[in-house]
Amino acid sequence: MESCYHLLAIIVRSPGAQQVPAPGIPGRSKDAWGGQEGLLLESFLQEMKRYLGFTEVDARHLRELGPRMEKYFPELAERFYAQIRQHPHAFRVIAGGEAEIARLKQTLQQWARGLFSGVYDERYAGDRSQIGYRHVRVGLEQKYVISAMGIVRSYFSNCLLLEFPASDERLRYAHSLGKMLDLDLNLMCESYMHATVQNLRALNEQLERANRELAEASRIKDEFLAHTSHELRTPLNSILGFSKLILDGLCKSREEEQELLRDVFSSAQHLLGIVNDILDITRIEANQMILHLEDVNPRQVLDSTLPLVAVQAASKGLELHDLSARRPLPSVRADEVRLRQVLLNLLSNAVKFTSRGSVTVRAGVTGTDGVAPSRRAFLRFEVEDTGIGIPLEKREEVFHNFVQVDNSQTRRYGGSGLGLAISRRLVEMMGGAIGLDSGSQGRGTLVWFTIPVVPEAQQESSAAARRPRATATDRR
Ligand code: ADP
Repeated sequence: MESCYHLLAIIVRSPGAQQVPAPGIPGRSKDAWGGQEGLLLESFLQEMKRYLGFTEVDARHLRELGPRMEKYFPELAERFYAQIRQHPHAFRVIAGGEAEIARLKQTLQQWARGLFSGVYDERYAGDRSQIGYRHVRVGLEQKYVISAMGIVRSYFSNCLLLEFPASDERLRYAHSLGKMLDLDLNLMCESYMHATVQNLRALNEQLERANRELAEASRIKDEFLAHTSHELRTPLNSILGFSKLILDGLCKSREEEQELLRDVFSSAQHLLGIVNDILDITRIEANQMILHLEDVNPRQVLDSTLPLVAVQAASKGLELHDLSARRPLPSVRADEVRLRQVLLNLLSNAVKFTSRGSVTVRAGVTGTDGVAPSRRAFLRFEVEDTGIGIPLEKREEVFHNFVQVDNSQTRRYGGSGLGLAISRRLVEMMGGAIGLDSGSQGRGTLVWFTIPVVPEAQQESSAAARRPRATATDRR
């Protein structure tokens, strides 16, 4: 019984008030059944009138009843809200205090006035269906609407008893009023059906989207397998081919043999890189990547990483700049091995995708993680190159697993398409963010990432406690 009162309070809450629509639920009565749905509501109204046998005579009865019932509305509202205050969920309904209750009482009277207006057209039906939507929105089940209407029904039959002592006259009016209340109830309940259909439709769309995403993920994996096997096969073939030449004694000189051995060695290194990437991403995806966060000196990380790409940069005639070389950098809270891995990956990409110009590294303290302002300080690393750049529409995609701007079988640049995806996950695991910009001259690429700085108070002690660390290869 109590829940019925709770429900009625919501029924009468604000038939005309604007509310934020719930997903799939129209917000205004006029628009609620607009277009095709407007036609449906109109035909539903006609069908219900026919089904209930609601005629012009009933409408006239209700119009006649209106002026006599009007005086009962304030009492209805008073009694109603006296009950509502006892309800355990009253706070949900009358959160706005006395002023809110006064407004709700007015609204209830307005709703009752509508019942006796004598005009039951599409607009009326739209308003009633909106009341139903409000119930759907607050999560009240249909059964509560039905019992709440029972309460209204019994209140009005008492009124009729007082108003028309002669039973034949009373029955005539009660009959018409009963049909009207049934019509109202059906209109409200129809909203449940309508909202349910809309929610099912939304759910269906979600499922279809999920299916498309799954198909896309599977397509990307297939493509990855094709690429990876190609990537693995290329250095493996070189290793096999070159070592066979050496084993068969086909080298004409010691220098030639040395050169082939160097090729074998670099192919093996390349192969190891790809295998490591695959292992890393698999571990990350399985949540098995454990980071060892400690206070790390970024200077040491930069100084030990840059030489790893210096030879390749020089062999391509690229300048390699470290613009933070003379700047003191604060300690960061990171996994040193993984931090070096991220930096090395960005530097290797910069060198790989640049044929002319330079690769520049910067590091500096900032008050944002790169995405949102933060009270914590971050060290922002930037790796900028003057290479081929990344098209705007691919700048988010390249952080996804196995995505490469050029993913054709005949592409010029090697790689697994996993470096940036791994970097993003590692940076995020360390509490930072990573992103892409155009290079400063509008060409090339600028990749940045942030790592939390060790709070100032701890900087001294972390500098004192700093020890030489294991290298990336040691940890793997
Ligand atoms: P890959 O092993 O292919 O380099 P990454 O995940 O590191 O994988 O990079 C994904 C793709 O992003 C690359 O294949 C390339 O198309 C693009 N990319 C990354 N860095 C750069 C860069 N500095 N300049 C141009 N393109 C880049």
